[in-house]
Amino acid sequence: MKVFDIAIFGGGLSGSSTALNLSKKGYSVVVIEKQQKRDLVSCAGGMAASMADFISTDITSVIETKVKSVHFTWKSSDKVIADIPGGSSFWVVRREKLDKLILEEALKYGTTIIRASEAISINKSGEVWNFVCSDETIIHSKFLVIADGSESKWASYLNLGPKKPKYAKTLAIRLEGLGNISKDSVRFDFGSIKYGFAWAFPLKDSVNIGLGTFIGNHGLENYELNKGIIDGFGFIDSKYKPMHKKLRIWSGIYKLNHENALVVGDAASLCDPFLAEGIRPALISSFYAAECIDKCLISNTSNLDEYSQAMTNNWGKSMAWGKRIANVFYRFPKTGYKLGVKRKTAPQRIAQILSGEMNYSDIAKRVIKRLIFRSQS
Ligand SMILES: Cc1cc2nc3c(=O)[nH]c(=O)nc-3n(C[C@H](O)[C@H](O)[C@H](O)COP(=O)(O)OP(=O)(O)OC[C@H]3O[C@@H](n4cnc5c(N)ncnc54)[C@H](O)[C@@H]3O)c2cc1C
Repeated sequence: MKVFDIAIFGGGLSGSSTALNLSKKGYSVVVIEKQQKRDLVSCAGGMAASMADFISTDITSVIETKVKSVHFTWKSSDKVIADIPGGSSFWVVRREKLDKLILEEALKYGTTIIRASEAISINKSGEVWNFVCSDETIIHSKFLVIADGSESKWASYLNLGPKKPKYAKTLAIRLEGLGNISKDSVRFDFGSIKYGFAWAFPLKDSVNIGLGTFIGNHGLENYELNKGIIDGFGFIDSKYKPMHKKLRIWSGIYKLNHENALVVGDAASLCDPFLAEGIRPALISSFYAAECIDKCLISNTSNLDEYSQAMTNNWGKSMAWGKRIANVFYRFPKTGYKLGVKRKTAPQRIAQILSGEMNYSDIAKRVIKRLIFRSQS
């Protein structure tokens, strides 16, 4: 009976990068991916350049735009422009290409993939996980990584992450051409949709446009990407095919591991509840997951508590502030735009968050310091 070191449910960004990190360390890894192929991923593709350090392969070929400035608007007008620090520290990547590149690299290092299949039952005998898959394959592994995304059925089954995940609702399209979006900028439009924002992130010859709504379970099912938004991005009378997706967002600090099992990426509800940044936590969680599993395999132990702790320290603490900011900003968006975007230093701060130079805790500390200073003077 072959027992893999690690089985991973889901071959998206977090599953593939966990597979790459672990197979590069010399472990036997199997990825079980539900889809036969992923030609289009519902993701705007914005990522901090610093995240490349968390990917153990060169991703230059999938960077489509090196972003120099962020343009904010309120209902398509009242523009505020912020330059991204460091010139090109925020990129737009074509997500389906990024995921494919990382997965192919993992395969080169010996990862096995089972496609168009998923686990239909799981159990553990002693220290070994046993999975029966929908294509009747039976898999055994020492460790299990859940990376099956926002619709995860295994995270809650194994009591990993929040019992009742919170969701943002998103609607995304990709349009040919660049509209009025300048090649090296990204656009955030507030005020056009309730409890969220619209975005336009340019690729080489097309634009990822989308809407996200983050609080109050406000749906986008019946939402037309109406003229206001599409016109605002410079696309007149365009035909489009919307992709609707529920996105699990960060809602609190939860345990993300058990003995021999952990959860990464969207399945772990890590996505930023203010700006929908999910690439960064997918990569960070994949990195720490691999580090912790490696330690366990080296020392022949199974306690992965260090993983949950690393995610709390390196992500959760900042997201706690991100959630508070989102709650206030999206409930009072006009005031939010005035204070959070139009204030002299504010857009620069958001640009610094996007580029990974600052996090929400840093911002909160600055605001608290300012308030203390004011109250004392
Ligand atoms: C419209 C939209 C725009 C976004 N824009 C950005 C952005 O600009 N920047 C950013 O940082 N983040 C963005 N995000 C968030 C980001 O896309 C996600 O956080 C990221 O994709 C998480 O990767 P993942 O691997 O965890 O999940 P996924 O990419 O969803 O991968 C999950 C994988 O698991 C597979 N799967 C599902 N169920 C099973 C199963 N039972 N068994 C086996 N396999 C299974 C799926 O087929 C899929 O391949 C956006 C999200 C949306 C919806």
